[in-house]
Amino acid sequence: MRPITEPDVLAGYLTDASNIAGRADGLFRPTTTEEVAEIVREANRTKTPLTVTAGRTSTTAAAVPMGGWLLSTERLNAIEQIGHSTATAQAGVFLGDFQDAIEATGRFYPPDPTSRRDCTLGASIATNASGARSFKYGPTRPWVESLEVVLANGEIVHADRNTPIPCHWPIPQWAEPEVKTAAGYVPTKRMLDVFIGQEGTLGILTRATVRLTDLPAEVLGFVVFFPTRQAALAFVDRARSAQRADPEGALSPRCLEYLDRHCLDLARERVGDVPDAAVAALFCEQEVSLDEETHLAAWWEALEACGALADDTLITTDDAGRENLHAFRHAIPAGINEQVVRNGMPKVGTDLSVPDAALSTIMEAYDHAPIRHVLFGHIGDNHLHLNLLPTTPDELARAKAFYDELAAQAVALGGSISAEHGIGKTKRDHLRTMVGDGVIEQFRRLKSHLDPNWILGRGNVIEPPL
Ligand SMILES: Cc1cc2nc3c(=O)[nH]c(=O)nc-3n(C[C@H](O)[C@H](O)[C@H](O)COP(=O)(O)OP(=O)(O)OC[C@H]3O[C@@H](n4cnc5c(N)ncnc54)[C@H](O)[C@@H]3O)c2cc1C
Repeated sequence: MRPITEPDVLAGYLTDASNIAGRADGLFRPTTTEEVAEIVREANRTKTPLTVTAGRTSTTAAAVPMGGWLLSTERLNAIEQIGHSTATAQAGVFLGDFQDAIEATGRFYPPDPTSRRDCTLGASIATNASGARSFKYGPTRPWVESLEVVLANGEIVHADRNTPIPCHWPIPQWAEPEVKTAAGYVPTKRMLDVFIGQEGTLGILTRATVRLTDLPAEVLGFVVFFPTRQAALAFVDRARSAQRADPEGALSPRCLEYLDRHCLDLARERVGDVPDAAVAALFCEQEVSLDEETHLAAWWEALEACGALADDTLITTDDAGRENLHAFRHAIPAGINEQVVRNGMPKVGTDLSVPDAALSTIMEAYDHAPIRHVLFGHIGDNHLHLNLLPTTPDELARAKAFYDELAAQAVALGGSISAEHGIGKTKRDHLRTMVGDGVIEQFRRLKSHLDPNWILGRGNVIEPPL
């Protein structure tokens, strides 16, 4: 196969959602695993860096090539099998399309990164992506049943849940933080795990079989407003405990998403329905496993006990409610994007998670943001995204310095510097802060063992050798 080298074509593949620009000498768009293997063998023989590019929604420049060749998975997009307990597809299928096809059969694949319409199945596995529903269902990792992977020498391997790691592979031994995390190579005994969350550095995923579960018959959506942050946190505590005690109980949210007062200001500018007294809100979903009235009664009781502005709750029990809630949720990203465009500066977004006990501490730290910001995200997993919105280069520098301080604080609190977006090329320093030099050296040994010429995903996770 010959790479495409037309600059006009290559130009469409040189950046991702990080807005960092890369460079590449050629692009391949294979359609089969055998073609992928052939390209990888040639890259390895010629020691040419090879970056896998998929939906390019990475926020960490993971899909940005720093020279060499690009391998796009866009034509590896066939859905091959949907059964009762598993479904199989090539890696480049859009995740949202795969999920639609699965749900049309009455089955359910839960991982739901917000980008699921624009990101691919393979990349969501390669980054161990999460979403709002990860509060109930966990990240992508536990939903992967088996993988087909092309190694850096062009060998095609298959790994399922029982495939052991070859005894000579130097798997890093370290203690991951006990929080939601997508940072670094996992300490594991299963080959399957090695290829989940490796950000295209240890192998190219060409095909995946994922586990399915029952599609919930009905899901209630809520936006609940609170007069104080403490009231919102009290509800999170209560709902989280109830969910952990009985995942199918009357109060068992599948997601708990926080919106701070700055988010509410953005929503006020675009939609009504935001009470004046509200300073925080939660977007929540409840799968209906009992009857609707039983769920609603448990929710009202908990909301009132925690001091929520219960009468102002938006709820999707009818079409009008669904529309209001939809408009409300979309007002916030739209407001942030508009602000970023107006500022002409990139936003700086954090992806930190901490243990339950450290949630208020890290939220107090976010309060000290030196520039305009909004805070929202997966509060059920103590994983909030602070979005800093600089308007000048000086503010951008202050935002980045503040992010570095927050990352160090999250680590000191027992958290992770990346709960879902991964390390890519932009968070290698934070990863080093989190794991230390010794563990980085172990990551380097694994990388060198599986990819001696460092061709795959060069620059992601760990710095390449000079
Ligand atoms: C608006 C927005 C919302 C987002 N929301 C979420 C969210 O809720 N949760 C979340 O976890 N992330 C989120 N992300 C981040 C991003 O969408 C995920 O990391 C996603 O998994 C990337 O998929 P992609 O197809 O765009 O991959 P790309 O960005 O093209 O690539 C990402 C990385 O995966 C590697 N890769 C891609 N395909 C393969 C393959 N087949 N084999 C090996 N490596 C591969 C690439 O080399 C790169 O390192 C969001 C991003 C945006 C812009």
